[in-house]
Amino acid sequence: MHTQQIIETESKYTSGVYSKRPAAIVRGQGARLWDSDGKPYIDCVGGQGSANVGHSNPAVVQAIAEQAARLMVATEVFYNDQRAMLEEKLVRVAPPQANVNRVFLCNSGAEANEGAIKFARYHTGRKEIVATMRGFHGRTFGALSATWEPKYREPFEPLVPGFKHIPYDNLDKAAQAIDKNTAAVILEIVQGEGGVRPGSKAFIEGITKLAHERGALVILDEIQTGFGRTGKMFAAEHYDIAPDLISVAKSIAGGLPMGAILISERIRKLEPQTHGSTFGGNPLVCAAANATIDYLREHQLPARAAELGEYALGRLKRIESPLIRDVRGSGLLLGVELKIKVTPVLQALMERGVLALPAGPNVLRLLPPLVIEKEDLDAAIDEIERVLQTFENVQSDKAAE
Ligand SMILES: *Cc1c(COP(=O)(O)O)cnc(C)c1O
Repeated sequence: MHTQQIIETESKYTSGVYSKRPAAIVRGQGARLWDSDGKPYIDCVGGQGSANVGHSNPAVVQAIAEQAARLMVATEVFYNDQRAMLEEKLVRVAPPQANVNRVFLCNSGAEANEGAIKFARYHTGRKEIVATMRGFHGRTFGALSATWEPKYREPFEPLVPGFKHIPYDNLDKAAQAIDKNTAAVILEIVQGEGGVRPGSKAFIEGITKLAHERGALVILDEIQTGFGRTGKMFAAEHYDIAPDLISVAKSIAGGLPMGAILISERIRKLEPQTHGSTFGGNPLVCAAANATIDYLREHQLPARAAELGEYALGRLKRIESPLIRDVRGSGLLLGVELKIKVTPVLQALMERGVLALPAGPNVLRLLPPLVIEKEDLDAAIDEIERVLQTFENVQSDKAAE
């Protein structure tokens, strides 16, 4: 299909819930993508955070091809070799402080949070969930009830009862909100969609302590921060905390759809029929996840994210532009808060062969695959600098008129 035809056909038949960019991406390798005209891009979108091991990672491709030829479907009413290996692997790589000893496998981030919320109510017998302002946890009803952004929520009310939102990084408000009715606190360690905002040590450790003192659980949403993104296998490892349920997804299976809930040994055993999923833990995706996690560890990608992330953060901070308000990040989850709208900046970057993401209206977010070459990361930052210069010029021309 030609570019024009692809774009016209999708535009005609797609649901309409996405604002799309005018390129058809048809091929990827590592941190590079190509569109249907053969134009190459440096990818700092990273499949929205699901391509940590790089696009079409050869180890993952091989595992998928082999497993596809052997067995694709066997639901969890049976045992399976790939699933057994994955469950054991997830327990081994989980943050040590969490004492994870079981996992529930599903198909997306939202679904992982849905399950975690159910498990928290089931374990505690309590109803209420405390979430945070600017938090993002997905778009299904339970996950959406924990998500803050009013424009995602309001058209779909009534949502699930029992949720309240407190300011992120405010322990006093947390102390007022968490009580004997609280089943769990759900939070991200770095608010990704909410503007790339890392939580302070005092807040993350403080709210965890408060929750536990009051008999509530802590659900850590590591869907974006997991699998090496922030410079550790999981972002929880940067803190002295023991989360009870950790939801993961995005990069877990090298780009295939999968989610999981990592369950601490402190959570009481879940009974049959309390939850389930037809596709959850299917052998094909488990094989992809096994290869992905092995690759992350063998190639020490968390350490690479830490090193490259620190380097990139330093470079971004040195950009002298009156349009930059703040630069933040953790590992290779990077945010540049602008004083202007980010969408035109993203468009200009794409024209120059760099793909990046927004995080809210003013924040430019970079989520490159952790395998990105340093030269490509440098080239992407060079382009950000140049694009911001052109926007400065436009602004000063306007001022001079
Ligand atoms: C992407 C994301 C989700 C939702 O994941 P889906 O797979 O799109 O449902 C939830 N929480 C966080 C922190 C995310 O970044």
